[in-house]
Amino acid sequence: MQDRRAATALASRYVGGETAQEAIETAKALERQGIRASLFYLGEFVDRPELVAENVAAKLDICERLSHTGLDLHVSVDPTQVGCSIDWDMGARNAALIGARIQAAANGRPGVNCMMLDMEDLPVNAATIALHDRLRAVGVPMAQTLQAYLYKTEADIAAKIAEGARVRLVKGAMLAPAGAAFTGRAAIRRNYMRLTEMMLAPAAREAGFYPIIATHDQNLHEFAIDLARRNGWPQGSYEFEMLYGARNDVARALARRGERIRLYLPFGRDWWPYAVRRIGENPKNVVLLARGIIGGR
Ligand SMILES: Cc1cc2nc3c(=O)[nH]c(=O)nc-3n(C[C@H](O)[C@H](O)[C@H](O)COP(=O)(O)OP(=O)(O)OC[C@H]3O[C@@H](n4cnc5c(N)ncnc54)[C@H](O)[C@@H]3O)c2cc1C
Repeated sequence: MQDRRAATALASRYVGGETAQEAIETAKALERQGIRASLFYLGEFVDRPELVAENVAAKLDICERLSHTGLDLHVSVDPTQVGCSIDWDMGARNAALIGARIQAAANGRPGVNCMMLDMEDLPVNAATIALHDRLRAVGVPMAQTLQAYLYKTEADIAAKIAEGARVRLVKGAMLAPAGAAFTGRAAIRRNYMRLTEMMLAPAAREAGFYPIIATHDQNLHEFAIDLARRNGWPQGSYEFEMLYGARNDVARALARRGERIRLYLPFGRDWWPYAVRRIGENPKNVVLLARGIIGGR
């Protein structure tokens, strides 16, 4: 499948390249359009030590390159991809290693260069936040992804606001755990708005909190922009984030309006499963892909 030309053309929209250098070049091209990047090496859900080692080496490599670019970059990390699914302590040590490299690369540079911890399933939620807190306490520039569909996120955001941390708010992509999460799009969206109100409240700004609104939902973008204006948040003191390739037109339009916008930019040899998931999220793509594959035979 990976070799099919039509499928590859469509899928490659969602990835920044196969190598770190290609991803950096894509990030530079985005920067020329006023768009920042969050780099993510594609190697999810690994359960073999050699794959963990490969993931960690790739993350360290990107951090090394970070110090040679003038780019404002996040490095996204899934705890399980750096070993936490095999042994949490080993994964946490790997995350600390990557964090130290980011800290060195970010030192004294302008921008919001940091490690962004992605959020996976509920069983690792508390441990992921604890890992964020531990690394932040030793000076690693950190940000934490939190999921609006979980009931617990309201309390987690309140704590992060009080600490003046950085939070990327997403709706939540994992299976909603019974009794712990809002179910249904409307309820999740309502909670997303409620949490956005907390993140963009004047008190959060005064606490030095940094909100990252990560959604493709344009009504939520406008909701956040309106709140930010009313509550005294200057443009650039908060940011939006979307997936590379999903709505680059919307990203460019936000940048033109002076909003700070970042795209989650995955790269790596194993890009196919990730790209297929993104294709599946947009029904237009499925039709295009079917036509492309049939046409390419
Ligand atoms: C930067 C970023 C990081 C994320 N990190 C995590 C994480 O760590 N943990 C986690 O659980 N989830 C994560 N997610 C996924 C998130 O939880 C949602 O599942 C996902 O963003 C869909 O919700 P939405 O609000 O963007 O769009 P929806 O509410 O699904 O849809 C809103 C609009 O956006 C459009 N849209 C949505 N997705 C696409 C697409 N791929 N292509 C084209 N149009 C699209 C829809 O068609 C619709 O018009 C992340 C999302 C983003 C943007």
